[in-house]
Amino acid sequence: MVDEVRDTESTADLLDVDRACARCGYNLRGLRRNDRCPECGILVSNSLRPNLLSSAAPDWLAKIATGLRLYYWTIAIGACLYLVLKLTYDSVLHAINVGNAIAQLFAVFLITMPDATGGGSVRLGARRVARILIPLAWLVDLLIEQLPMPTGMGLIFAMTTGLVVVSTACYVAGVFALYCYLGRLAERIPNDALVCRARFLGWAFLIWIVCINVIRFCVPIVIDYWFQSGMAVATVSMWLGRLTVFPILALDVVSYLFFVRLWRAVVSAKACAQSA
Ligand SMILES: [Zn+2]
Repeated sequence: MVDEVRDTESTADLLDVDRACARCGYNLRGLRRNDRCPECGILVSNSLRPNLLSSAAPDWLAKIATGLRLYYWTIAIGACLYLVLKLTYDSVLHAINVGNAIAQLFAVFLITMPDATGGGSVRLGARRVARILIPLAWLVDLLIEQLPMPTGMGLIFAMTTGLVVVSTACYVAGVFALYCYLGRLAERIPNDALVCRARFLGWAFLIWIVCINVIRFCVPIVIDYWFQSGMAVATVSMWLGRLTVFPILALDVVSYLFFVRLWRAVVSAKACAQSA
């Protein structure tokens, strides 16, 4: 009796239509929901989830893939330039760095393209927040560059400080939203490891940037209060500036690897979508 019930259950579970594996495209017909794909090993039920990237429009996936690829290149180039510019100032390298930042902005524009086949939310979701706040941060930065150098605690100083805070806040919130959105894309692959990595990177980025800025601003003030020496403040600020290079570069390496993996996953989802 028990065996009979189990048999009926497993027959009902049997996939009797053509359905491509979300990761490798293998035809899963004849397998059960709890089986694994014989080609790549992911659960059959994962490929039956609604709203998978493999059933999205190939054109849209192509734009996302191009954006992700451009983004990881700009991370690698940006990290190298950041390191070199910390050691020596060069106007040509500085210009390349600006070009690299513009390329990254374009990559965000491509990655956050709305999905016409659904999947995108109507409300102000992570995708839209990232699409608005990251370019806004750069616009505020451009505005700061137009202001004259502050010469004391005047109006210009207050304006510059205020705009720096606005630009940093927009950038941090925008990048955090971008990782939230990329986590949702990874759910649609589906790839749970990439979902976790996106969540980790979003929080790591937020915590690093907040800590680095708090340390950079607060420690010199405390040193000034205790030692009342401009020299001590200058030395401590210089060393803090050098020490923050390492966490920033470490975060760059982890996010570079994440973007490469996500790009690969989106490319194979696109191949599945085209063959479907
Ligand atoms: Zn497979």
